[in-house]
Amino acid sequence: MFAPSADLAHARAALREVFGFDSFRGVQDQVVARVLAGESTLAVMPTGAGKSLTYQLPATMMDGTCVVVSPLIALMHDQLRSARANGIAAATLTSADADWRETMDAFRRGDLDLLYVAPERASQPQFRDLLASTRIALFAIDEAHCVSEWGHDFRPDYRQLRPLMDAFPDVPRLALTATADAHTRIDILTQLGIPESGLIVAGFDRPNIRYAIRDRDNPARQVAALMAEQPGPGIVYAPTRARVEKLAEQLAAATGRSVLPYHAGLPPEQRAANQAAFVASEDMVIVATIAFGMGIDKPDVRFVAHAGIPKSIEAYYQETGRAGRDGDPAQAVMLWGASDFATARQRLSEVDESRRQSERQRLDALAGLVETPGCRRGVLLRHFGEHPPERCGNCDNCLSPPGVTDATELARKLLSAVYRTGQTYGFGHVQKVLTGSNDARVAERGHDRLSVFGIVTGEEARLLQPLSRALQARGSLTATEHGGLQLAGDAKAILKGEASVEIVIPPRRERSNRRRGTN
Ligand code: ADP
Ligand code: ZN
Repeated sequence: MFAPSADLAHARAALREVFGFDSFRGVQDQVVARVLAGESTLAVMPTGAGKSLTYQLPATMMDGTCVVVSPLIALMHDQLRSARANGIAAATLTSADADWRETMDAFRRGDLDLLYVAPERASQPQFRDLLASTRIALFAIDEAHCVSEWGHDFRPDYRQLRPLMDAFPDVPRLALTATADAHTRIDILTQLGIPESGLIVAGFDRPNIRYAIRDRDNPARQVAALMAEQPGPGIVYAPTRARVEKLAEQLAAATGRSVLPYHAGLPPEQRAANQAAFVASEDMVIVATIAFGMGIDKPDVRFVAHAGIPKSIEAYYQETGRAGRDGDPAQAVMLWGASDFATARQRLSEVDESRRQSERQRLDALAGLVETPGCRRGVLLRHFGEHPPERCGNCDNCLSPPGVTDATELARKLLSAVYRTGQTYGFGHVQKVLTGSNDARVAERGHDRLSVFGIVTGEEARLLQPLSRALQARGSLTATEHGGLQLAGDAKAILKGEASVEIVIPPRRERSNRRRGTN
């Protein structure tokens, strides 16, 4: 056996020879050293950190084939192309491959360094027999968070990997993920039978990305302003196909720049063409659903904008992580509205009971990021188990600290008004009642005779909208599909004076270009 340092020297030579790279990045060398020593490992590395190299390189050095489990056929084919481009003997075994017979023959002969398979293979007895027919060097499990129900993308097929791998007890395992919070990490270790000592976590900070999270008033105008301020290629995520199409048109019209849409509803040729155009371009903007970005390697993306909230902090980190991989300054801007959280919280009721609790926590964590008056990067990094300094100096809240105000009293007024009007009206109506508006519908319903009529005046009235947004984000208010507000979560505790509410004071719109005033 080689001593680990000799292994690494050997690995560095292979790194140069096979990939043409001069040195390992980040924790790559630690991961590769463990793999070469035959030790099972969970590597948590952010997108772009170079996870694939940590199994591809050992695969070229070790006796036998590295079996790579990956959840998406498209992703596998990208990996296959890049592995082959580096002269690595690789093949995929998926339902989309016509040449599976040749692949199996090559595998049995021991001619392959890498064999990519989909997780559903793992439960097939023939597959176990196939693996037993030759020498396996390593099991690499890509997107390993899919094995955990705590992860954001649970796939039951991943649970079949453990019994399969247990049938080959001498083969080391390398699980890889970009998106695991502390809880999910432990679960992955347990589910895949990897010792705790095998956990390697790369730093998650992306210091060149400037984070900002803003209220959405007019997404087309707001993104156009971002495009003007930040030249270069950008990705704009929008929640639905229809909004992707519309936003792409609006942005093209408003800026005169090349802006293309990308979503699963487009014909495959057009999708591929739009993606290729984006990857090749130096100033194009692509408006996309989250279907876009997996497996894309474009280092010079200068901004990622979200026109609505992402699914979770993990998803946000992964999506914004596509900006600035070249290390040059880049921006991540999220535009959010109360309706985003209202919709997401409504969907919770449709989620399977067993997953509802973790989905709710995910949403609460995201609301915490959106609502914080503190450092955005701090919230992100703490979520991934790091201990960042209190201020990063490169996010909206660090660059221009927002004022916060105790809005508990106002929250009680708002919640009472929602309650007294019967929990069926949207924010607009409740606002009219609270501010004592002379409105026909208010009078018609007799809401001008309620005790809450006209109890909010002056400066407080300006805080109603952001307060309603904040209460919806934290789940104290939910909206029905018709927009009717209802008490939920800790609303009762707020009404009883047992919980308090602090909100960020919104900048005045007409002065939003300048730094906030001092008073
Ligand atoms: P991940 O899967 O972690 O998102 P990839 O494996 O796709 O990341 O790698 C991202 C990019 O970094 C790829 O272009 C890859 O070739 C490059 N890369 C990986 N390791 C190194 C290295 N040691 N030196 C230079 N470039 C690297
Ligand atoms: Zn900060």
